[in-house]
Amino acid sequence: MSKREFQTEVSQLLHLIVHSLYSHPEIFLRELISNSSDALDKLRHLTLTDETYKALFASEQIAPPRIDLELNEEAKTLTISDTGIGMNEEDLVSHLGTIARSGTKNFLSHLSGDQKKDSNLIGQFGVGFYSVFMVADKVQVISRKAAEDKTWKWTSDGKTGFEIEEVTGPEARTIAGTSVIIHFNDEGAQYANSWRLQEIVRKYSNHIAFPIFLTYDKSEWNAEKKESIKTRTTEQVNSASAMWRRSKSELTDEDYKEFYKSLTGDFEDPLLWFHTRAEGTLEYTTLFYIPAKAPMDLYQADYKTGVKLYVKRVFIMDDSKDLLPPYLRFVRGVIDSEDLPLNVSREILQQNKVLTSIKTASVKKILSELKNLAENDPEKYATFIAEYNRPLKEGLYGDFANRETLLDLIRFKSTKVEGLTSLAEAKSRMQPEQKALYYITGGNESILRNSPLLEIYKKKGIEVLILDDDIDEIVFSTVDKYGEIDLKAVNKGAASEDLKDENEPAKAEELKPLLEKLKATLGDAVKEVRVSTRLADSPSVIVSDEDEPSARMRQMMRAMGQKEMPEPSPTLEINPDHEIIRKLLADPTNAKTEDAAWLLFDQALLLEGVPLKDPATFVQRLNRVLNQSI
Ligand code: ADP
Ligand code: MG
Repeated sequence: MSKREFQTEVSQLLHLIVHSLYSHPEIFLRELISNSSDALDKLRHLTLTDETYKALFASEQIAPPRIDLELNEEAKTLTISDTGIGMNEEDLVSHLGTIARSGTKNFLSHLSGDQKKDSNLIGQFGVGFYSVFMVADKVQVISRKAAEDKTWKWTSDGKTGFEIEEVTGPEARTIAGTSVIIHFNDEGAQYANSWRLQEIVRKYSNHIAFPIFLTYDKSEWNAEKKESIKTRTTEQVNSASAMWRRSKSELTDEDYKEFYKSLTGDFEDPLLWFHTRAEGTLEYTTLFYIPAKAPMDLYQADYKTGVKLYVKRVFIMDDSKDLLPPYLRFVRGVIDSEDLPLNVSREILQQNKVLTSIKTASVKKILSELKNLAENDPEKYATFIAEYNRPLKEGLYGDFANRETLLDLIRFKSTKVEGLTSLAEAKSRMQPEQKALYYITGGNESILRNSPLLEIYKKKGIEVLILDDDIDEIVFSTVDKYGEIDLKAVNKGAASEDLKDENEPAKAEELKPLLEKLKATLGDAVKEVRVSTRLADSPSVIVSDEDEPSARMRQMMRAMGQKEMPEPSPTLEINPDHEIIRKLLADPTNAKTEDAAWLLFDQALLLEGVPLKDPATFVQRLNRVLNQSI
């Protein structure tokens, strides 16, 4: 026998489960049944596709798929057995002693120590196997892995660690699979009751695709003896239909919600679901869910996907990144195809025509359902957007085919409305002379809202969308149209073309000596100094060229450790009507113009949220000017 300690994260999780999840202890059964169902899925796939496993099935070392719950009311134990893939010694150590799921690890690192908050958090993802320790003071897992001949026993009290030993004799299993033996604690004693167990199975696991049997002592009235006697009875307790294959009309909202919970381990109801059956050249069924809360690992590189692939009701694989595009990685559910081969591999999937068609149609379906929702139930759509606006933006970058739909789905902050708005709404608010839809990127919301670049738009009553997500600048630099309307960034050259007025050439001529002096002073720090058409109150502003990353973006790339980009100098624009500029123009050769040139440049950088390279010199200059003016 060998004793082992739990990985630190497991101990942390166990502590939390035992101390803050008491509102839902019954979910332990759903979690264990779902593990059995996963194990049966995996083995069934192998017995259908792999000769070795086919032979084992023929020689009865692999049994038909089923899940058994055996209740011993007196001893207060429940055994959950399956004829699934099983685990060997190594599997037991790594699967039931460590946490591999990044979502769980990430979750643990966000714990606040506040029990109420933490238990809300934990409700957002499945706690899995360890939830059994809410109801047990001892758990034994006896397992034999398919195609191996040893049986292993894992034992733990859920506190200090676990023990593993090989078992022989009557305890050893003759067929592959796993039994989890739960010794109920005081809290769990309520589940040593056949009624209660049936109720919980029907509630959470009715649509598990395999039969679940309950064996218990059934009390029956014996008319002859005139007394109630107990008979050991085995009954099937779930409907065991692959629920997604049933027709919509047969299914209730409750059915959909329960299936979602058993599929994902989420405590909360899903926000939405879309159930589709395609019959035609390709036959398949999809059932997609959108969780109420974005998955914990949504923004992690090693996120887990949540769509399972089935072929003719046989589970093929989960966590495949090829079933839906990455930006829809928050979608959960099932794809069940009639046309794929059972032994389809991950590699084959990537170029499989059938799957590509299913994927394309699925994306269209999901996006069009979202569009319907946006039109018919804006309030619910707002709750969707609160969680998923950002992944949709990622779609703009990768999914060109659906770009127009995505542009309609994404929501924006704006200078004209409180809360969020759509491009369609912004379009309907366009001024008669307005040539394009404008947006500003490159900083946090308050920097953007206070940017001098917005002055002229405010003055003219033109709406500007505030794009303050860190990915906005990159994503929207690739989007230049919404329908026939141009989308333009106000800090790029093209937007200023729209603002040109007829006095400009005259003003440029008038300001020429000053422009030259400023450029000579600033040297290579600026690419050009020119007259601005977009300023009302500020004396100066920094703008970038159309295809150049902005100053702020360059700073972001540097922070991300990207190789230094050759730094094209920004363009400085000055406000020809500003008092400071008028005064400078009176005598461009004045010695003070040099300090002014740098201060105009540095303040424009500061307003764009870019820290100065040489703050000390800036302060010296500022003080010199202050000193002269006081
Ligand atoms: P998850 O199911 O999300 O992976 P769990 O904590 O529920 O997380 O289970 C951890 C792992 O333990 C599973 O991924 C699986 O590899 C293994 N496991 C648990 N129960 C069984 C079982 N009945 N048969 C085979 N493997 C199991
Ligand atoms: Mg599980």
